[in-house]
Amino acid sequence: MKVIDTFGLQHNEWVKMMYSKRKLWAETFLQITFFGGLRSTQRSESINSFLNQFFHSYVKLYEFMSHIDRPMSCLRNNKLKDDFDCINEHPVLVTHLLQLEKHDVEVYTRNTFGRVRDEIKSEAKLSIVNCIDDVESVMYTFRKFAGSDKTWNVRYTPSKNIFKCSCKMFETIGIPCCHSFSVMKAMNMHHIHETLIMQRWTINAKDVSKQNVLYASMSTEGYKEANVAIDKLTIQINGLLPSSSTSREENVHRTSKQLTVQVKDPVLAATKGSMR
Ligand SMILES: [Zn+2]
Repeated sequence: MKVIDTFGLQHNEWVKMMYSKRKLWAETFLQITFFGGLRSTQRSESINSFLNQFFHSYVKLYEFMSHIDRPMSCLRNNKLKDDFDCINEHPVLVTHLLQLEKHDVEVYTRNTFGRVRDEIKSEAKLSIVNCIDDVESVMYTFRKFAGSDKTWNVRYTPSKNIFKCSCKMFETIGIPCCHSFSVMKAMNMHHIHETLIMQRWTINAKDVSKQNVLYASMSTEGYKEANVAIDKLTIQINGLLPSSSTSREENVHRTSKQLTVQVKDPVLAATKGSMR
């Protein structure tokens, strides 16, 4: 607002348009939105960078189609290697919270494991400066040892095992933050609680979704049943979301659209690739 007043932009069309869409871009409104650690165009840039290793700008479209198998094979090979490493690699435990790190190894994929382990390591730098115990929950306040005056608050509700940290790491990235680990240490927990484990980052994430889709696609009845159950679950999960920038109807609509793509109709799938 100060910038707008300083430069006299109260009637500028572009400023008005951007202000009307502020919930889509301003960080304040996006703090509790899940992005999985991705920022802006990172995903497409990553794919571009990968494809640049195999193609140059003079490649014709028909050449591209005949050579696309190579990068695809490479991606599939990387995926298989990651799966193999997840099952067979056993990282050495190095942090001060061995039980929690051990659970980290057992639950998460190797990539996510490293990020969660960094949070466990960071926990060592924190100290509890305040603890307020009310009837239903406990509020912990943390400060970094020998750091600035910045503090973080974690509200822990023992009856529901809910951790709410002011840093919003779990809400935006999906992994527990160092402050939540500090609460787990204070509560003498030996496992990362399931309310802090996002299924999509776990070793079993793919298996669960694969099974659902496989069984649903084996019969028309199964497909319809799955869609009804998923719609119910979507509405139920949506009810757990805080009333954030996106409306509930918008979320349900978007999710049901995505699910239609993921769970294929078996009748249509049977005709795929057949002669016409
Ligand atoms: Zn936190």
